[in-house]
Amino acid sequence: MTDPGMKCTRCKAPARFRFPQHNARFCDACLDLVIHRQVDKAIRRFQMLEPGQPVLVAISGGKDSLALWRILCELGYPAQGLHLRLELGPFSEASLEASQAMARLLGRPLHVRRLADLAGATVQEVVWANKREFCAVCGSLKRYYLNRVCLEMGLPVLATGHHLDDETGRMLGNLLHGRQDHLDRTWPVLDAWQDGFVKKIKPLCRLGGDEILAYATAHQLPVAQGSCSGAKGATLPYYQEAMRYLESKMPGTKRDLYLGFLRRAAGPPAPPSPGAACQVCGHPTHVGTCTVCRMLERTRAWRGRAPRRR
Ligand code: AMP
Ligand code: ZN
Repeated sequence: MTDPGMKCTRCKAPARFRFPQHNARFCDACLDLVIHRQVDKAIRRFQMLEPGQPVLVAISGGKDSLALWRILCELGYPAQGLHLRLELGPFSEASLEASQAMARLLGRPLHVRRLADLAGATVQEVVWANKREFCAVCGSLKRYYLNRVCLEMGLPVLATGHHLDDETGRMLGNLLHGRQDHLDRTWPVLDAWQDGFVKKIKPLCRLGGDEILAYATAHQLPVAQGSCSGAKGATLPYYQEAMRYLESKMPGTKRDLYLGFLRRAAGPPAPPSPGAACQVCGHPTHVGTCTVCRMLERTRAWRGRAPRRR
């Protein structure tokens, strides 16, 4: 990230951070300015938030969501945090502590909910009962309950820490496997839909993981260390690794892929075709019972059959 004697491209002060994709080096103060500008640009360009609009930020305890929370506060948005406790061992506890430490630093409210209370089952139980990949189950449950809690809280917008590396990794996977419907939905904003989905935004979409890491380092954000012990079956890291390789050989590739795609796209994706509401929870779905309710139904049935496994 650094070379001794580097000078900031903007102000010529000693620089700590180098970004080949911008052919630039920044000191801490200019890094802040540049990062805030990039997020502000994304928010305006994609109409993510009105000036000063309240927003709920999904806080995992990792560098991305902690940085996002701080940046939104700095830009004048009254941002509250929501952390879902996954309770998957020491990393989950470190994630909760990191989220709480960030809330104290910012002096902003953090809402903490246990996924096991919301779902009535642990992630592990849902995985066992449904014989599905751990990360797929965990991801579905997180998305569903982040949306649901945000709705219940009456906050209209949910922000997540997804950034350029997440978006380009996912795009590469979708391109390679011809998932055109997923590609068509590549957009950093999903609008609220009927009464069932809150508006979802990704204000870090113009920033790479290295830029966010630099910001977290410069501000010594209390990022949770370690990695999820449950993580199994996720393929996104492979595509992200491939993108990192391309980026190292051709700086700017990630921005070209993602921002170029958005420039050429017709606009935000159409809202989901009017489907039904889930007959169990009322969540919008194309089938009678939504994916999460079906997984939870199977988990209850599995519990009845395998009482000694718990
Ligand atoms: P991930 O899918 O783990 O890379 O996380 C992507 C984004 O989802 C993070 O930047 C957070 O905004 C949000 N997120 C992930 N895990 C949690 C959690 N346990 N509680 C709240 N938000 C989360
Ligand atoms: Zn449902």
